[in-house]
Amino acid sequence: MSSPLSFVHPTPDSPWGTYLSQVDRVVPYLGNLARWAETLKRPKRTLIVDVPIELDNGTVAHFEGYRVQHNLSRGPGKGGVRYHPDVTLEEVMALSAWMTVKTAAVNLPFGGAKGGIRVDPKQLSIKELERMTRRYTSEIGLIIGPQKDIPAPDVNTNGQIMAWMMDTYSMNTGSTATGVVTGKPLHLGGSAGRIKATGRGVFVTGREAARRIGLDLNGARVAVQGFGNVGGSAAELFAQAGGKIVAAQDHTGTIYNANGFDLGDLIPHVTHTGGVAGFKGADVMNSEEFWDVDCDILIPAALEGQITEDRARRIKARLVLEGANGPTVPKADDMLFERNILVVPDVICNAGGVTVSYFEWVQDFSSFFWSEDEINVRLDKIMVDALKKIWDTADRHKITLRTATFAVACERILIAREERGLYP
Ligand code: NAD
Repeated sequence: MSSPLSFVHPTPDSPWGTYLSQVDRVVPYLGNLARWAETLKRPKRTLIVDVPIELDNGTVAHFEGYRVQHNLSRGPGKGGVRYHPDVTLEEVMALSAWMTVKTAAVNLPFGGAKGGIRVDPKQLSIKELERMTRRYTSEIGLIIGPQKDIPAPDVNTNGQIMAWMMDTYSMNTGSTATGVVTGKPLHLGGSAGRIKATGRGVFVTGREAARRIGLDLNGARVAVQGFGNVGGSAAELFAQAGGKIVAAQDHTGTIYNANGFDLGDLIPHVTHTGGVAGFKGADVMNSEEFWDVDCDILIPAALEGQITEDRARRIKARLVLEGANGPTVPKADDMLFERNILVVPDVICNAGGVTVSYFEWVQDFSSFFWSEDEINVRLDKIMVDALKKIWDTADRHKITLRTATFAVACERILIAREERGLYP
């Protein structure tokens, strides 16, 4: 791993360190394009903003916000906004870089970007959350826009926050610009199917991977870490396909039921209480025991760096579906490969969200909206086709699906880089 940048100090397992090692692994497969590989290790534009807001008690609080545009060679920046107390510039850089790879892996006409605020949103009132979102949007307003960079939801952000972002940007520019963010509510130019799109993409890639390894989804035991937008939606689809969701972990706790949870009860419980803890239809587990659970499919759908080398040694699943971004550190990736556990990497597995975001953006521009069935059919086809190309590349070079996804994506990114040429 080599990091030429002076302003971050990655470790091998940190998000940017993980990303750099993934780039190093793909370079041998890039042929002549390898001479442009350095461009992948440097974000194009990095913005750090101060976000001061008045709290309800009359005092002023300052939050640190970021927007990173990692690469815009193939189109406007695209990527979510995360609100979390552990957000750092380095993390946002890595998340933006994975967006560059992801949009190219599914061949969308976007680059990669990501944003975040270092805040625990659960400590803010709804009015404080709105003020913070609006001030952050104004501060990054210089570099976002429907043709420049289009934010979307990520951890702890949702349709309401996208609505405030859209409104703030529109107020500042003087006209309603629905295409400035995706993941908006349906009344504001949102797309049918967007909320569950990432989970649906996890399911589609999981279904294809299961077929390849001869794993029957009917009766398959599934463990899910992170029971939010991505994990919850993916769990629902696996359950509909006959799977049993036997374990779930989120920031409130870890629960287990060998017969599978009744999602008709668990999902409303999570919606009403904010987490899986306290769910009656399950046993409580110690958080570390989650990684030892007997299961066929493991879906990390929370944060980065969750699958460490030690946990990779203990995982029982045959298939790991990376709903989260960057959940597996490089040494754990090697361990899973050695143990013949198939990993469908984040950069293709969770690309369903950005794919339907692309549909939303196109629909906003044309002011013509598609049905949910149309969205889901198109999403399924894009994911299946992209995964097939990646799998062919993996078979041809005898490499992991992660390196193959990087190979397919980085070729597209670096061809665009080369054809555009260096300015001036
Ligand atoms: P979310 O806020 O809806 O849910 C996050 C979940 O993670 C919650 O259940 C939370 O309790 C859990 N969590 C947080 N900290 C945890 C911890 N320490 N241990 C266990 N669980 C923990 O967020 P989301 O949108 O579902 O995003 C989850 C992951 O999916 C992130 O890595 C995100 O970048 C990635 N992702 C999201 C989208 C999207 O469209 N929302 C798209 C692609 C990738």
